[in-house]
Amino acid sequence: MNDLEPKPRTAAILMTYQCVAECDECCFSCSPRLKGTSLNFDTIKNFLNKVKELGNVKVVVFSGGECFIEFKLLVQSIKYAHDLGFLTRCVTNGFWGTSLESARKRVKFLKESGLSEINFSTGDSHQKFVPVENVLRCSIASIEQGLLTCVAVETNSSKKFKVEDFINHSLYSKYIKNKKYSKLLKVMPTIWVSFHTDTVYNFDKSILKGNDDGCDGIFDTVALEPRGDVVGCCGLTSNDISELHLGKVIDSNLDELLSVHHNDFLKIWIFVEGPKKIVETASKWSGEPIPNFAHKCLYCAYLYNDVSLLEAIKAHYLEIREDILKRYLEKVIVFNSINT
Ligand code: SF4
Ligand code: SF4
Repeated sequence: MNDLEPKPRTAAILMTYQCVAECDECCFSCSPRLKGTSLNFDTIKNFLNKVKELGNVKVVVFSGGECFIEFKLLVQSIKYAHDLGFLTRCVTNGFWGTSLESARKRVKFLKESGLSEINFSTGDSHQKFVPVENVLRCSIASIEQGLLTCVAVETNSSKKFKVEDFINHSLYSKYIKNKKYSKLLKVMPTIWVSFHTDTVYNFDKSILKGNDDGCDGIFDTVALEPRGDVVGCCGLTSNDISELHLGKVIDSNLDELLSVHHNDFLKIWIFVEGPKKIVETASKWSGEPIPNFAHKCLYCAYLYNDVSLLEAIKAHYLEIREDILKRYLEKVIVFNSINT
């Protein structure tokens, strides 16, 4: 990568597609049945060593599927990443918080292995499989250990469980409220969109903000998924976009894979303007109706899987090329100066 390319700051490792839950709108269709989909330690090590060589990545996020299913592998991988000098975060549904004592033991062990932060997910769909009390116990254990902790609550107009229900829970009142470490915990709504059904949800406008902006994630995050593919972002629809799968980590030079990724005009355009604006522009070119989605990643999957939009872009992109490349270079300079 040269200095005029964006330098990724975050690496994500999807440890497995297996999960103890099977949420209705899971973006990767994870489920308890997807056994044998976990990465092995050699592949994780290979990826982390290559990420280290990139020189600018600060944080490694361990996610899935459910990364706590193979707890020993998670601990081993966090330790390896920590020893390479990365900050580390894991994302989990908190199924392992069956008691406060067991949650405390796990979090202590993870902290001693180098974990810096935990993110939890909960809400109506998750709670069909994992009680919110488990997430509360894990959150308590996490903040007691001094870890930054975030709880994301699924949100759309159909959801009954809300952020307030989490912070009004008796476990929250007893163990978190007004405690010295309570500031370490953030509980926030997260958009829950439809991936596999035709269900259309309504959303508060404030939660949709960002759809009109360029997508930093496409060049800020480099991901490894359970089949060993290097992926150019860890967006919700990244498995529906073959162009974001850059190659197998084991046989590849990561720097070269990313250089090819950074020199793809459509990806540059996504970085500068975001997939929503591209879909709007290309739909005008092709004469198709402009679709409406709740999440930028849904625009992105639509864009990459609609042949006539891609044809329209091929036919017309020279009309906007110069402007987009100029804005790309301006954005890269700011992006790299903030991120290095
Ligand atoms: S808990 Fe997360 S990974 Fe597991 S099925 Fe639900 S959304 Fe997917
Ligand atoms: S908008 Fe596209 S490139 Fe950006 S994170 Fe979503 S899937 Fe990835």
